[in-house]
Amino acid sequence: MTDYQGFLSTAGRDMRESPIRRMGALLGKQRGIISFAPGYPAPETFPSADLQDIAQSLVSGSDPYVLQYGPTRGFRPLLEQIAGIMDERGAPTSLDRLLVTTGSQQGLDLVARVLIDPGDVVMVERPTYTGAIMAFRNVRASLAGVEQGPDGVDVAALDAVHQRLVADGRRVRFLYLVPNFQNPTGLLLSLEKRRALLAWASRRNVLILEDDPYRELYFEGAATEAEVRPLRADDEDGRVIYLSSFSKTLAPGYRVAWIDAPVPLSDRLEVAKQSADMCSGSFDQRMVHEVARRGILSRRLPMLRGHYRDKRDVMSDALRQELGGLCTWAVPRGGFFLWVALPEIVDADRLVERAVRHGVVYVAGDAFYADDDGVGPGGRNMMRLAFSAAPPDRIREGVARLAVAIREEIEALSPAAPAARPAPPRPA
Ligand code: PMP
Repeated sequence: MTDYQGFLSTAGRDMRESPIRRMGALLGKQRGIISFAPGYPAPETFPSADLQDIAQSLVSGSDPYVLQYGPTRGFRPLLEQIAGIMDERGAPTSLDRLLVTTGSQQGLDLVARVLIDPGDVVMVERPTYTGAIMAFRNVRASLAGVEQGPDGVDVAALDAVHQRLVADGRRVRFLYLVPNFQNPTGLLLSLEKRRALLAWASRRNVLILEDDPYRELYFEGAATEAEVRPLRADDEDGRVIYLSSFSKTLAPGYRVAWIDAPVPLSDRLEVAKQSADMCSGSFDQRMVHEVARRGILSRRLPMLRGHYRDKRDVMSDALRQELGGLCTWAVPRGGFFLWVALPEIVDADRLVERAVRHGVVYVAGDAFYADDDGVGPGGRNMMRLAFSAAPPDRIREGVARLAVAIREEIEALSPAAPAARPAPPRPA
């Protein structure tokens, strides 16, 4: 038998499967399971009739470029629309800074490949997005996590970790942030901290990678709109590389997203993309462009905000009813996720199996903790519940199933102290 392990590169050997994708595989095997695992948008929000109409006209054959290779930077009319979106977000840009990517996931991968040498350090929030952890690990970065408060990353702790790394002779390349309704915590970074982080990045000569897929999905109208202002909008020193995506506002299947970066970096990112996929799908980019041109994209936003706000309310009400006093969580002001603390004795990773037996699945907190630099693993008793995809009645049913699984688990762990006794509250 051929030993394929011997053929693998060090990076190829070390690549780790996405824990969320693994959950997806689990789901495929069990019928009727309710999934709070992947952060999928709700399919009933996709504008199917409009998409059908646009797709039909695009494939009619009248434009020979629709199914052709396109420029690596992206379909120019779409890039111009993206520049308009950046303007609306308070961050005017130019076309030479922009690059369409095949999902923001590709943006993370390209930035990692262009900026990181093996052993370089990327600083991340603790916890942080698993897809970013994978992209950075694939290029053999070390990840250093920094704790977050209710209004985002702790800036003093960030500087202390940074100074320790520098004193150890490490090279810190950038800080990765999801400032708006973070995946997995749902946290919103305060404006004050946004300003402090920009000043910090200049002082310490690091870059900031700002990943912003959820900013349009805020639930409190004008009250939050001002608070989702990108760091990129106030970046006077050219420190910020900005990623955003049409995945959550239109549909993730098109895989259309973008990077906005200082020109010397966007030039390198373009070259990196040439070898990754040459260009993002020409058809997909035209679909997104036409949806935006017809005004469908901007008209959808109030509907989406209402849709996800209602689902957040359904899930947090169900949690309060079923698990109040036993679990704790902060109610997010936007996005897709609830980040829930189980009683200290419960290992969320071990609980998954029992939850699946009861017909519900989530992502255990461990997956979002990336530390290689001493703080050690975290999130043992945390779970991420996505309220975005399931319909309201399934959300209620899923939380009820989860509550049964959690009570059973607590009973199994401490037969002498039944689950009826609530654990002391813990910060979410
Ligand atoms: N960044 C974050 C924080 C995300 O949550 C996601 C999707 N789950 C992505 C990037 C990737 O999004 P996409 O590739 O669909 O644009």
